[in-house]
Amino acid sequence: MEHIDTLVIGAGVVGLATAAKLSQNQDVIVIEQGSHFGEHTSSRNSEVIHAGIYYPSNSGKAQHCVEGKTLLYQHCKEYGVPFAQLGKVITAQTADEAQTLEVLFQQAKHNGVTDLYWLSKAELQAKAPQVHAREGLFSPSTGIVDSHQLMLSLIAQLERNQGQFVPNTEFVAAHSTPQGFAVELNCGGEIFQLSCTNLINAGGLFAQQNAAKIAGLNHTHIPPLHYCRGQYFSYQGKHPFKHLIYPVPQQHGLGIHATLDLAGQLRFGPDTQFIESLDYTTDSSALETFYQAIRRYWPSVDKSRLQIDYAGIRPKLQTAGPQDFVIDCEVQHGVKGLINLFGIESPGLTACLSIAKLVTEQLEPSE
Ligand SMILES: Cc1cc2nc3c(=O)[nH]c(=O)nc-3n(C[C@H](O)[C@H](O)[C@H](O)COP(=O)(O)OP(=O)(O)OC[C@H]3O[C@@H](n4cnc5c(N)ncnc54)[C@H](O)[C@@H]3O)c2cc1C
Repeated sequence: MEHIDTLVIGAGVVGLATAAKLSQNQDVIVIEQGSHFGEHTSSRNSEVIHAGIYYPSNSGKAQHCVEGKTLLYQHCKEYGVPFAQLGKVITAQTADEAQTLEVLFQQAKHNGVTDLYWLSKAELQAKAPQVHAREGLFSPSTGIVDSHQLMLSLIAQLERNQGQFVPNTEFVAAHSTPQGFAVELNCGGEIFQLSCTNLINAGGLFAQQNAAKIAGLNHTHIPPLHYCRGQYFSYQGKHPFKHLIYPVPQQHGLGIHATLDLAGQLRFGPDTQFIESLDYTTDSSALETFYQAIRRYWPSVDKSRLQIDYAGIRPKLQTAGPQDFVIDCEVQHGVKGLINLFGIESPGLTACLSIAKLVTEQLEPSE
């Protein structure tokens, strides 16, 4: 049986970033059950490089978002990945929301995001034309990135280090051996065995399912999974925005905000809805809810130009309250060489290089 140092399950942005980083010192293979990389959450998101404003102090999300943002901007410059540091305006429409903005401002400072500033009325009008807001904060370090090109750059980095990306290959099962793990893979109907020292489960929406197939892992270390769909409406034609425009955050997401892609196309979303199965079908009947949410901050939005676009699904670990990334290694679950990544929802795209760094440090602790 072939032996390698590390097998990474899942070629989303997190699995690819981890594989690329580990390939600097190890033999690495990253497998993907689909025929292409990043077909799930990594290609169904807002492509925003978040600043790190919202997350509780000392949380994994805060730490990985702030560090990941810096690493991601560096990576984009080094590897020629298209990005734009557009900045974003966070708006408050009521006195209560203005208080929430103040809380966000303080939270951001605790998280090490020190570049946020309050906008005067004139600055607000200049940065967010046609937007109705009582108060506004500006985040200069927020940006957007081409997630497809980012993943391509990570595969190029992996392959330059002799690592391999193997599509159409599904992780089926694993059990511990004296060398690490014996792993069973399904490659287009044929079953293959592989031996590896380390096993990284970066399966995103399938991470819990994968973990349940690892013999020896106590199932108390597998958190629940709740699918939370977020869908987008695109806005056809001209619009006045050069920055991203956000309302104050909501219970499960950041509120129906206005994002731009690198071509300048405006879209709104994502909303939040818990669903029973992994189903990316969109629901155009959400138009009225979107329209009402958008017109709170952009009263002159033209409803007839909103068109249902696509949906992504957040791998939530609970249905209420704040939740953090779960990155479990031997210290937590007792299985040497195994790292499980659960609940890698937003800001997972921003955080991918920082998560990859942590996983590498856990597998290769410095003496
Ligand atoms: C609506 C929405 C908006 C978001 N917006 C942003 C944003 O603007 N900025 C930001 O920073 N983050 C954002 N995120 C979060 C970000 O997209 C995710 O955190 C990130 O893409 C997760 O990447 P991943 O590699 O963990 O998962 P995925 O992209 O889901 O990749 C996991 C891969 O593993 C594969 N896999 C699973 N099991 C197996 C198996 N048994 N065998 C082989 N392959 C397997 C899957 O097929 C999949 O391709 C958003 C998320 C959502 C849902």
